[in-house]
Amino acid sequence: MQQLNSYLSGRWLYGQGQAREIRHALTGEPLYQVCSEGLPLADSLRYAREQGGRALAAMTFQQRAQMMKAVAKYLLAHKETLYEISYQTGATRNDGWVDIEGGIATLFSYAGLAGRELPDDTLWPEDEPIPLSKQGQFVARHVLTSRPGVALHINAFNFPCWGMLEKLAPTWLAGMPAIVKPATASAQLTQAMVKLIIDSGLVPDGALQLICGGVGDLFDHLDYQDAVTFTGSAQTGRQLRAHPQLLAKSIPFTMEADSLNCCVLGEDVTPEMPEFALFIKEVCREMTSKAGQKCTAIRRVMVPAAQVEAVKQALLQRLAAVQVGDPRLEQVRMGALVSLEQRDDVQKKVEQLLHNGCEPLCGASLQSFSVLGDDERQGAFYPPTLLYCAEPLRNSAVHDIEAFGPVATLMPYDSGEQAIELALLGQGSLAGSLVTADAAVATRFIRAAACAHGRMLVLDSAAAAESTGHGSPLPMLMHGGPGRAGGGEELGGLRAVKHYMQRTALQGSPSMLAAIGKEWVRGAEALESPVHPFRKYFEQLPIGESLLTARRTVTEADIVNFACLSGDHFYAHMDKLGAAESLFGERVAHGYFVVSAAAGLFVDPGVGPVIANYGMENLRFIEPVKIGDTIQVRLTCKKKIRKPQKSAEDRPHGVVVWDVQVLNQHQQAVALYSILTLVARQQGDFPSSEAQ
Ligand code: NAP
Repeated sequence: MQQLNSYLSGRWLYGQGQAREIRHALTGEPLYQVCSEGLPLADSLRYAREQGGRALAAMTFQQRAQMMKAVAKYLLAHKETLYEISYQTGATRNDGWVDIEGGIATLFSYAGLAGRELPDDTLWPEDEPIPLSKQGQFVARHVLTSRPGVALHINAFNFPCWGMLEKLAPTWLAGMPAIVKPATASAQLTQAMVKLIIDSGLVPDGALQLICGGVGDLFDHLDYQDAVTFTGSAQTGRQLRAHPQLLAKSIPFTMEADSLNCCVLGEDVTPEMPEFALFIKEVCREMTSKAGQKCTAIRRVMVPAAQVEAVKQALLQRLAAVQVGDPRLEQVRMGALVSLEQRDDVQKKVEQLLHNGCEPLCGASLQSFSVLGDDERQGAFYPPTLLYCAEPLRNSAVHDIEAFGPVATLMPYDSGEQAIELALLGQGSLAGSLVTADAAVATRFIRAAACAHGRMLVLDSAAAAESTGHGSPLPMLMHGGPGRAGGGEELGGLRAVKHYMQRTALQGSPSMLAAIGKEWVRGAEALESPVHPFRKYFEQLPIGESLLTARRTVTEADIVNFACLSGDHFYAHMDKLGAAESLFGERVAHGYFVVSAAAGLFVDPGVGPVIANYGMENLRFIEPVKIGDTIQVRLTCKKKIRKPQKSAEDRPHGVVVWDVQVLNQHQQAVALYSILTLVARQQGDFPSSEAQ
């Protein structure tokens, strides 16, 4: 039997002591021994902080994003080796796809998000400056910096690849190294992916380490700059969360635990409606994908009492068509559970449910189901199992016992209020869904049940064709849930990155904040230059470079011309009487005219390094511009983001964000906003691509 090595302090190592076994989920054949006893685990923390942490923290967000994109590309090119190992865990090709390619897609998604949104710097100014004084010389803003610690990720067995990558992506972006401890039952797949990442040479030494086996006394060596995440059963999570070292050092602990997710058929839905078929499809898919070993899988199926019979028949018919067996066979729709222990645990939980108010509708026993494939009797197969609970308000077990396999319980409700009551009995879930065609039903249910859910899906025939489904966490959406689901938050776009960083409220003068944040803020010193800023290449533009334009008096002709050109004849601009009774008391210029006239004042029209204007942000009209008012613009280089050149043919460039203040004759701001321009770089990333 092969020994499954850990990767610590730059070396592949195996422990000495009592080993655990990983068996093939389909055949029961012993595959690997796992042991981490006696390994230098505490040293791995030091190694992570001193090697990986320092290297990552020195990289800018943009560089970290590029590293992650390269890793994702490398993994995609080597994915087939991972699929081979994925079969050992009982997964079908579809299950493997969610885990392997879903994980890689998450890495790509975070790299893209950071590339678009985060600075080419190691400090992240989180918000706009907050004025704290009358003269404007004392301001504040929140900034995020990397913690010089290490993130310890303890993962569940069901998503050995996705489970690792969805946490690694925000961790690395935050500039933190990680030590990953996969669940033993499927650790060989996580190990294979870690090996690919290490062999790629794309990540700094110490940015990623792996513990195959137990964590020993590692928790005792954690420090206040570290972070721990846990995905698994609520029982283990509760035990780890209370570790004295975590409490003593206030070490952040994020928990994602089991949850009794519900799917509710709306009171309005009858069997002839398309939503009825959608509901049946969704429930069956969630019960059988990954053989029901998904933290987000539907466990509680709630239907109006009048529809119980119809739903029962439709679900039974569909579940009967699910072929269970060797996932490599084409006809097979559902593979095995990860291990015989897991199968026995599911059987035990099903029996508990049967003793507590539930009756079996299908499955529920290892005796009576057919499995396709050679060694089917040795494998950890379990039949799709639908139970029925006639009195769900009186039986708490159905809201409490999670059988982590292809198991769900159907239950009736009498009214919309009762459906809400049942949903809340889950005591906090990762995901919940409602299938309805009636917006009023959806509004009532979601407003009352959202407090107990991390994510909610409202499914109707309009959303169905493009819906990603009840059970799929997405990189841009929050994954986590209150109460029994652990109270944690993962993913949710850039929010997840912030969980691994330190937020500091920084106070000082605008010039100080601008210098520290490498981002100009209003009120900070501005640099004037005889050369128009639009004539400067990206490298030549200092942050804070500023242009005060000529003035322009706004006339009635401007307003009339703009109204005719744009077709906007709104009364406040064009109707003297209407305008007199308006908020402004007289005719005012169109806000869009002010913005256009401002561009006319600050733009340098000649061919030059500015390639394009591609957006405007945070536009606010502060004061009205009346006929006879004189406007002037201050344009200031606020921040710069260097963009990597994709090919030698691409023009090297960066993004420059300009602060725009349009002022009137009293020096009052009439409009404030930022514009985003692409500005050519003189130096390309390829030898032949200097600016022409
Ligand atoms: P588990 O027994 O709680 O194990 C989870 C992880 O904790 C594994 O890596 C496990 O390692 C480790 N672990 C166990 N005891 C530990 C200890 N004393 N110190 C440090 N680490 C320890 O859960 P499981 O049975 O593997 O996973 C299934 C459960 O996870 C289900 O209940 C499911 O609902 C939940 N889950 C939740 C989510 C979510 O996002 N909310 C996602 C997936 C799964 P070993 O394997 O080596 O023991």
